[in-house]
Amino acid sequence: METIANYIDGRLVPPLGGRYLKNFEPATGQIYSRVPASQREDIEAAVAAAQAAFSPWSRSTVDERAKMLSRLADALETRLDEFARAETIDNGKPLSLARSLDIPRVVVNLRFFASAITQFASESHAMGEQGFNYTLRQPLGAVACISPWNLPLYLFTWKIAPALAAGNTVVAKPSELTPMTAYLFSKLCIDIGLPPGVLNIVHGVGGEAGQALVEHPGIRAVSFTGGTATGEKIAAAGGPRFKRISLELGGKNPTIVFADCDRKKMLDTVIRSAFWNQGEVCLSGSRIFVERPYYQEFKDELIQRAQRLTVGDPLEPETQQGALVSQAHLQKVLSYIELAQAEGGVLLCGGEQVRPAGRCQDGWFVRPTLFEGLAYDCRTNQEEIFGPVATLTPFADEAELLPWINSTRYGLAASLWSSDINRCHRLARQIETGVVWVNCWMVRDLRTPFGGVKQSGVGREGGLEALRFFTEAKNVCVDIT
Ligand code: NAD
Repeated sequence: METIANYIDGRLVPPLGGRYLKNFEPATGQIYSRVPASQREDIEAAVAAAQAAFSPWSRSTVDERAKMLSRLADALETRLDEFARAETIDNGKPLSLARSLDIPRVVVNLRFFASAITQFASESHAMGEQGFNYTLRQPLGAVACISPWNLPLYLFTWKIAPALAAGNTVVAKPSELTPMTAYLFSKLCIDIGLPPGVLNIVHGVGGEAGQALVEHPGIRAVSFTGGTATGEKIAAAGGPRFKRISLELGGKNPTIVFADCDRKKMLDTVIRSAFWNQGEVCLSGSRIFVERPYYQEFKDELIQRAQRLTVGDPLEPETQQGALVSQAHLQKVLSYIELAQAEGGVLLCGGEQVRPAGRCQDGWFVRPTLFEGLAYDCRTNQEEIFGPVATLTPFADEAELLPWINSTRYGLAASLWSSDINRCHRLARQIETGVVWVNCWMVRDLRTPFGGVKQSGVGREGGLEALRFFTEAKNVCVDIT
């Protein structure tokens, strides 16, 4: 059984307290590795290493930092299959997805910020004959990056790449449920010669290692992706310590289908937006609103497609739906399926745990599930389930639709389907989310601002937004009179 190590000051080290957590393979329900249960003293060591590395790293040239990130991307690209397999075993997602989306996106994240930092300019404000101002964008120091389990290495690198590119040093904590690819990544950092202390990776439980990291006085900023309840704790710990905080939190995203849309393209996409990655995507379209005249036809087609999705061993190439990440998460998803029925929902398909024959019989699988007949404001339609469960609701017109869409405490993303271009623009303005996809879903241009409103988060990631978050603006005012 593999024992995962922390990566501190350029070395792989055991947790100082010697405690470990069990790491499970979701597809089999079996323990397959051990993860450090790091504590405050491990965080102390990691922050000290990051602080010591800050001066040389922040003074290195933009080209040197870009080169390091590119080297990491190149090294990872040659080991794509190994990382994809590791991600699948650790998380339960289909290998086809880890191979086509997760790990290729890690390479892109690293390359994108290697390039972006070379284009990162700052402002200048002229004051006529009196002089001028220019803005320095300086790195903050040692920063924390805390990431979730659903897109493990993808979201981990989405944070550390801009932080490092901007000249900060990092203490990162991946989810304790999916630590494996971050561990493999730390070995890659050693292989390519990343200077010790520039990136430190500490594994452990959120309330223990994560909380200690956020509270540490040496940490200048916290970039967090995870649940809204955890975001609240991070804001509560970081706020009074005046840390800069970016929060990417949960979602309960609407998919809005008008009868005049391109139906083939829409259906091909909606089936993915509802069930892709077992519905464990913050951007999942879990509330599907359909214009009434098209409702019955849409419903029949979506049910057929959902029933055709193959659920099973994520390592098998034909599998489209893998396992949920943990037993606790499986229980949570099943409890929402019960709740939906108690709230009067009509089960259209799925609604049950699956036990595939063979090595995955004890894994944590749920069949893609659709409900109809639920009020827009019931708990099923208001709370994030984060599993393969979506609801269908017919609507009459925009006036009826809008309050329903905007009724949740979340505001991450929406996907809007219509061929009426004026309607699309009109609605895009009125939907209360940070991202609106028109006639598409999950199309990502990494230069765009990404994030949520209301309880889906504070701040934006992506492109210049991320580089601005990880730098301090200093105005230098020059009087030339
Ligand atoms: P989570 O909040 O339980 O954990 C996320 C990370 O925070 C983990 O590394 C965890 O160990 C750590 N953590 C937990 N408690 C902590 C604390 N008190 N202090 C510091 N760190 C702590 O979330 P999760 O279950 O891993 O992920 C699922 C959630 O993430 C969903 O709500 C999903 O919508 C959200 N998410 C959001 C986005 C986005 O971009 N908005 C992307 C992916 C996932």
